[in-house]
Amino acid sequence: MVDINHYIFNRGGLVKPEQFPDDIRPHLIPAPTGEMVYRCLECGAEFAITELLYTCPHCRGLFMLEDKNAARLAERPGAFWRRLFDYRRMLNLPALSGIFRYYELIAPVIPLTDIIYLGEGHTPQVAANADLKTEVGAPFYFKNDGQNPSASFKDRGMAAALSYLNFLVKQPGAGRVLAICASTGDTSASAALYSSYLGEQVASAVILPHGKVTPQQLAQPLGSGAQVLEIPGVFDDCMKVVEALADNYQVALLNSKNSWRIRGQESYAYEIAQTFDYDLAKKTVVVPIGNAGNITAIMQGFLRLHDLKIIETLPRVVGVQSRHADPVFRYYLEPDKSKRVFVPVTVKPSVAQAAMIGNPVSMPRVIRLAAEYHRRAGADAVAVVHVSEQEIMDSMLLANRHGHIACTQGGESLAGLRAALAEGLLGRDETPVLDATAHHLKFIGFQQMYFEDAFPPEFEVTPKAAYRNRPRLLTPKTDKPEEKTADLAGQIAALLDLTPKAGR
Ligand SMILES: *Cc1c(COP(=O)(O)O)cnc(C)c1O
Ligand SMILES: [Zn+2]
Repeated sequence: MVDINHYIFNRGGLVKPEQFPDDIRPHLIPAPTGEMVYRCLECGAEFAITELLYTCPHCRGLFMLEDKNAARLAERPGAFWRRLFDYRRMLNLPALSGIFRYYELIAPVIPLTDIIYLGEGHTPQVAANADLKTEVGAPFYFKNDGQNPSASFKDRGMAAALSYLNFLVKQPGAGRVLAICASTGDTSASAALYSSYLGEQVASAVILPHGKVTPQQLAQPLGSGAQVLEIPGVFDDCMKVVEALADNYQVALLNSKNSWRIRGQESYAYEIAQTFDYDLAKKTVVVPIGNAGNITAIMQGFLRLHDLKIIETLPRVVGVQSRHADPVFRYYLEPDKSKRVFVPVTVKPSVAQAAMIGNPVSMPRVIRLAAEYHRRAGADAVAVVHVSEQEIMDSMLLANRHGHIACTQGGESLAGLRAALAEGLLGRDETPVLDATAHHLKFIGFQQMYFEDAFPPEFEVTPKAAYRNRPRLLTPKTDKPEEKTADLAGQIAALLDLTPKAGR
């Protein structure tokens, strides 16, 4: 029996150990009772998690992590899990404060003492205000995953992947590990951040497409002390190099092939469920698709909650792609399942740069999970729309003029919601939650290009006057210090059409 007091960080927490209900107390601090293995999606082969594996050595298929002891979870009713997760909210214990609040669903093999918590997860879900609702024609929320520590949702997956690595390197003979990833910017920022927290035993190297990540995204891994290697080309080219490295050398791959990351990213679905008190009827989650790890995790997360009867209704999932990088959209254009073939596309420049991927690694996962989702919740339960670069930019700016902090990919989510509403894919009685996948500031250069009307023609973006905004430089008409302030105040009052106070 674990001593709960040992784990409470600060006895001044919301609820004292002795105040938790008797039936909950023994489960609050979980033990690693899972039995996780890598399961190949193609040939079904099973591999121990004690090895650094990313694709099946037999057939090169992708893995999903499976808990072979999952039946123990299903023995308890959904209501038990709902209560447990709600009570865990009140704990004051770092290991269970982030994505591992849902420990049993994420990685129930990692000892709590190996869990890395840097403040990820439990991001705010912010309602559109009345004006924005009117403009878009439906109520909705943004769930701001830009409010994670490295300012994107990637931290959810890294918290799981690096906690697992932290556990692994403590095994006898593990040695030093080099963690490596290719990235459209945010994966490397997150990988470098979490690796740097682990210190000596885990070094990190990131491979980026030269000139295809924003200055902010480049600065992040540099600041975390990672080796940053740039190569010519786009993300898809970097991915090939990283795969060659993972095939031939002892490295820990932190791309979304890494199935621990998918597990961690499932927390996004769990949080939405918990926020709505587990009632997901008439709810829709709108998510941008790049390498398709995020939509994989979101579908898997909801399916897992459904398996355990934690939720009764699966919410609808709408994936969004830019017309400049839309292989998943094209795949689902063919209504006849048996005729669908996946064809990678050559991407064109996109403001949704973090999702600018022509050959998504997780496509086999998406195909399987979407089929299962459709089987359980109907043919329209998962849909993919595509949107123009113009719609992405306009939607991002519109959102941010109403109190949000959406990045270009968050703008893509809103553009996708508008497309889904226009096409009648989504009823106006549904409640959409839009994934704002990163913080606005990471992609600020695109806003700058919009405001300055400086987009190269291939982006196909023409700024709308209503959304443009530029700073105005005021020049004082005098050099005399005692008159300068009054002069500038006067100029500003005239520009802003201010009304003088009575008697002045
Ligand atoms: C990685 C990323 C995406 C794309 O997510 P996938 O899991 O690759 O589909 C979208 N937006 C942002 C900000 C990202 O960093
Ligand atoms: Zn296989």
